[in-house]
Amino acid sequence: MEIKKIPLPDEKKKARFTDESQLGFGRIFTDRMLMVEWKAGKGWVDARIEPYAPFVLDPACLVFHYAQEIFEGLKAYKWTDGTVALFRPEMNARRFNLSADRLCMPTVPEELFLKGIEELVQLEKDWVPSAEGTSLYIRPAMIAVEPVLGVKPSDHYYFYVIMSPVGAYYASGFKPVKIMVEDKFVRATPGGTGEAKTGGNYASSLKAGLEAKKKGFDQVLWLDGVHKRYIEEVGAMNMFFAYEDRVVTAPLEGSILHGITRDSVLKLVASFGLKVEERKIDVIELMNDIRSGKVKEAFGSGTAAVVTPVGALSYKDECLTVDDGEVGKLTQKLYDTLTAIQYGKMEDSFGWIK
Ligand code: PMP
Repeated sequence: MEIKKIPLPDEKKKARFTDESQLGFGRIFTDRMLMVEWKAGKGWVDARIEPYAPFVLDPACLVFHYAQEIFEGLKAYKWTDGTVALFRPEMNARRFNLSADRLCMPTVPEELFLKGIEELVQLEKDWVPSAEGTSLYIRPAMIAVEPVLGVKPSDHYYFYVIMSPVGAYYASGFKPVKIMVEDKFVRATPGGTGEAKTGGNYASSLKAGLEAKKKGFDQVLWLDGVHKRYIEEVGAMNMFFAYEDRVVTAPLEGSILHGITRDSVLKLVASFGLKVEERKIDVIELMNDIRSGKVKEAFGSGTAAVVTPVGALSYKDECLTVDDGEVGKLTQKLYDTLTAIQYGKMEDSFGWIK
């Protein structure tokens, strides 16, 4: 499908950031966005890259009432030679369509998803920051815009992509986080929407997050919704526990997100010669293994921070320090390797760069 380029008049050009160390995350947006509409009986129509602007939407639109919405998150990286690279964007396209299917939304042809992002990034390449650790965060989303009250799939959707230059997550070095295992609220249940990237999952997680913050923790680690016993994932990260010779993470069984960093970490860990286990992790056994020192490192993985060391884990009344609260060797090596591939400083032997 041809993607029309709507001219960007000078008065719509935004002031650029000057200090890349002050970028933060997700507050500044580039000049343009991608917009494609889907209409019942017509399919995908009117693909265009146009000046970034607010939507005018009827207050009755389905998305505002019944949350028929999905999104994605990926990044473009500027290399020292000026190349702008994407990391495994086809995985985001596939996950977007997995979410679309779960929310009864139309799937976006993978080619349109990728071409739309590539063309948008090319047009906006001057918006990709270049200081160490910075990147351009890309946010594809789809919303239901039929103005009707009634629970049903919409007959009209907007698929759009906006982009935000973002700062280095660890500008002042790695900071191990303190995580609380959540034993009151749950995030997902079998048969629910846990593995879809849909706004409702995040809205319903806010309460647990706030309560954990009040208790002095950075984020919550969710347990399974049936037994409240098996480890699932953290707010926007998949979780890993490193033993002497292996790395363990929860399996993809419908209730957790298919993290793209998770998949990359598992492939790297195997390439380092360690065993990889995707299996149910019993929280009581895990706490015992941390207490006895069998768990050497704990870390999360996600697009925003790449790899996040976990320095302390709390469950019920006990808070245990992992790896003396320091950054483990494997955690550091994974971070260094992944970022080296993303920023073109290391050979991309897995073929992840696009
Ligand atoms: N779990 C959840 C719930 C998330 O929102 C994210 C962020 N997308 C992740 C895990 C990590 O996924 P990825 O590595 O693809 O960013």
